[in-house]
Amino acid sequence: MSWNVQEYPTRALVSCLSPVDKVERWHLELASRMFEIIEHGDRRGVGLAANQVGAEVCMFVWLVNGEGDIVFNPEIIDRSSRTSVMQEGCLSLPASFLVNVQRPDWIVVRWMDRGGVVHEDRIGEGGKWDSFTARVWHHEIDHLNGLSIVDTMSGSSKRKKRTQLASIMERRRLLDQDDPK
Ligand SMILES: [Zn+2]
Repeated sequence: MSWNVQEYPTRALVSCLSPVDKVERWHLELASRMFEIIEHGDRRGVGLAANQVGAEVCMFVWLVNGEGDIVFNPEIIDRSSRTSVMQEGCLSLPASFLVNVQRPDWIVVRWMDRGGVVHEDRIGEGGKWDSFTARVWHHEIDHLNGLSIVDTMSGSSKRKKRTQLASIMERRRLLDQDDPK
């Protein structure tokens, strides 16, 4: 099976994924493919969620300044009240689609590594790595919960992007309409 980045919206990108019980070989193969995409693809990235390549697996990969890992079943269990705003893009959206996103400076995440060991780490300010890495983790965890930066946009950025957003939201509407539920 070949895994490639799919453009938002797709069914996999608007669904909340269930946790992985046991890490299997194909999960690691999928992760290698995802690292290949963010390191050597047409558009480089700092993170990628499995559902962005059509795999409905609760897993993402991240890579910031040469450090990175595979993260399974991440769950944000705490966050700073202090937040920062930074421009973000997304491999599932057109390259020109950049949005200001407000996110906490640190988050505490419960997650499972490739060996099945569960960790609880504070990521960002005062913890592991920096607040940019916390932002990357948060962006990818959002994907696994069916959210993309389109869902986090403020009213003013929606107005600024209304032409681009109109075609994206039309596809989103058709997808929702198709929903058998
Ligand atoms: Zn993204």
